[in-house]
Amino acid sequence: MSAGASPRPFPYNPPMEEDVARILIHREEIERRLADMAEEIAQTYHRDEEGLTLIPVLAGSIIFLADLMRKLPLKMKIGLVSVSAYPGRTTRPTAPKTVIELTGDLAGRHVLIIDDILDTGRTLRKVREMVLQREPASVRTAVLLRKPSKAPPDVSADFVGFDIEDEFVVGCGLDYDDHYRNYPHIGVLRPEIM
Ligand code: 5GP
Ligand code: MG
Repeated sequence: MSAGASPRPFPYNPPMEEDVARILIHREEIERRLADMAEEIAQTYHRDEEGLTLIPVLAGSIIFLADLMRKLPLKMKIGLVSVSAYPGRTTRPTAPKTVIELTGDLAGRHVLIIDDILDTGRTLRKVREMVLQREPASVRTAVLLRKPSKAPPDVSADFVGFDIEDEFVVGCGLDYDDHYRNYPHIGVLRPEIM
């Protein structure tokens, strides 16, 4: 930016904001909750000698991952996996498909799977199965959001940011047709957008 030019107002990109009907969870509230979650997670892992590997489920978890891991004072590695359950302009889940195979040597390591949201649980079940095949020391899951009415009893998350109602949300990594991941709050789109 040249000297004297005033910065564009943070954090809104006006067209993106105009597509949002309602903010469900404000950025400040998310920040506060993330600080508490990071403390819970650090308490859980700080005595483990085997070492921690985070497995973010791409692409929805990227914002949550970056926010959360910077608040964790532990040494850790990162592996990657990409699974897609809502391809393109879908707002109803399809069977999750592996887009990028799981990377990283997980044998004997404590694995924390990171995802944006626990909805039907099919994505996390699939990723958990992939992780377990690599013989880790332990597997846990952290999600920013959970739709409690839909998560089946056999798929649970160990660390949960917020429980929300069963509606399609965007922001903080969650997309519609690959847009709105950078929207800083959790919001609901205007119906005519979808
Ligand atoms: P599940 O397999 O648990 O049904 O769905 C998990 C994945 O579906 C999430 O990682 C996320 O990518 C997507 N998903 C589930 N609910 C929502 C939602 O309300 N909004 C968006 N944008 N994606 C969702
Ligand atoms: Mg996802």
